[in-house]
Parts: sequence; structure tokens; C-alpha cells
Amino acid sequence: MIDYDVKGNLAKIRASLPEDVSLVAVSKFHGDEYLMAAYDEGQRIFGESQEQELRGKHERLPKDIEWHFIGHLQTNKVKYIAPYISMIEAVDSIRLMREINRQAAKYNRVIDILLELRVANEETKFGLLPDEMRKMLADDEWRTFENVCIRGLMAMASYTDDVEQIREEFTIAANLFSEFKIQYFADAEYFDCRSWGMSDDYRIACMCNSNMVRIGTTIFGPRTY
Ligand SMILES: *Cc1c(COP(=O)(O)O)cnc(C)c1O
Repeated sequence: MIDYDVKGNLAKIRASLPEDVSLVAVSKFHGDEYLMAAYDEGQRIFGESQEQELRGKHERLPKDIEWHFIGHLQTNKVKYIAPYISMIEAVDSIRLMREINRQAAKYNRVIDILLELRVANEETKFGLLPDEMRKMLADDEWRTFENVCIRGLMAMASYTDDVEQIREEFTIAANLFSEFKIQYFADAEYFDCRSWGMSDDYRIACMCNSNMVRIGTTIFGPRTY
């Protein structure tokens, strides 16, 4: 039983998003019936952060769902999601990109990825600092990956009530996106994804040039881990 107004919440969020912003419904830790409630309202992009949980949902749920892997992905798990994943949002090493390329090639696929930028003040292990990302792109190895398509950047702001700080962090992401667009992807129309914004900060993100928000709690309710 769903004890949350998924349809109502989804409608409210959609109404509040600018037209060019796509919505990733973050369904991690929620049962199939929650996803189906959103699916029935036309939602097709869902975000999951655990390989095993995603595997089960992918097997059971409609095949036209586009799955985004939004969590930290271990290289040894890439092979399980490579056959079907639509986008891997949090790529933060050349090693992971190499493995995605290798596995995608096996299935004759090109997998869309985002580079995860670390802008938050917090002690998080994940994501690349701006200079680390610059260094990775300055090195040419990524150009050799025929089965990976770098679609843009993903970032998470600090967990704080300080709106100014969140705005500053998203602005770093927006500026870096523009920098890379000019320097490496000027002719690449596909480099167009700016994934920042979650339940508590997606409105700020939309003011900072986001065009992809990842929203869980506000649609599906609190998660029980
Ligand atoms: C869980 C998660 C979200 C969704 O967070 P909410 O606060 O529930 O909207 C978004 N992005 C990532 C990377 C997540 O892990």
C-alpha cells in the first residue's frame, strides 16, 4: 500500500519545473508500487543507487523505463547494468569510464554518462574537484572511448539551509559546464546535461542553469533504509 500521494506530488513538481528541465524520479528504497504510481502518470525516468535493487526493478517493471544510475558505482558492478542502463550519472574516475566503455562495447551500446563534480564543502569521498576534472579532460584517453558518451555534469550541493552557499556551489557547476562546453564540446550537441537539484534545493538549482533534477523524497515520501 502506498501511504503517500505520489501522483499529486509528481503533478506539483512538474508544474513548478521550467519546461526544459527533465525530472529523474529517484525511487531508491521504494517498492515497485511507488514507481508504478509515477509510471501511470507518465513518468519514465527513474533514478536508483544500488545495483541489486535496480536489477530487480528493471526485471519486474515496464521495459520502457529509462534507468539512471545515480549512486556511487563500483567498477565491478558495471557489467550488470551495462546491458540496459540509460545513463550513469556519477562517474568520477577515468578508471570507471574505462570499464563502462569496455562493458558497453560487449553489448554494442554507447552508454551516456555524466561526470560527477564535487562542489560541496562536506567531507564526501565522491566526485572530482574542478581541477581534477580539468586534468581528466585535458588528458586524451576519454576521447578513445567509443562506447561512452559524456553528456554533461552532475553535482550535489552541501546539505545545509544556507541558500547562498547552495547557490554558490551550483554556480561553480554551471560555470564549469560552460567552460568544458567551449573547450571540448563546442560542436557536440549531446553535451547538454546539467544534473543538479534534489528535493530540498531543486528550485535553487533551476535558477543556476540546471536542466535535470533528481527528486526522491518530495515525490515518494521519506525512505526507510
Ligand atoms: C537520493 C538521491 C537523490 C534524491 O534525494 P531527495 O532528497 O530524496 O530528493 C538525488 N541525487 C542523488 C545522487 C541521490 O543519491
